[in-house]
Amino acid sequence: MGSNKGLVHRGSKSWWTGDVKTLCGLIIPGRDAKSPWLTSPACPQCEAVLEARKRK
Ligand SMILES: [Zn+2]
Repeated sequence: MGSNKGLVHRGSKSWWTGDVKTLCGLIIPGRDAKSPWLTSPACPQCEAVLEARKRK
């Protein structure tokens, strides 16, 4: 897998730690998280998980 630096992940922010858990399984420290979340260039793994959830 190549570097995912610069990709925009989708995830949910933990309100108690401020860290963001992305749909592709990464943990992004709150201080490194982009806010508000941009949508491009989107992380393909996050997008795939999002699509899979929509289909359920
Ligand atoms: Zn991702």
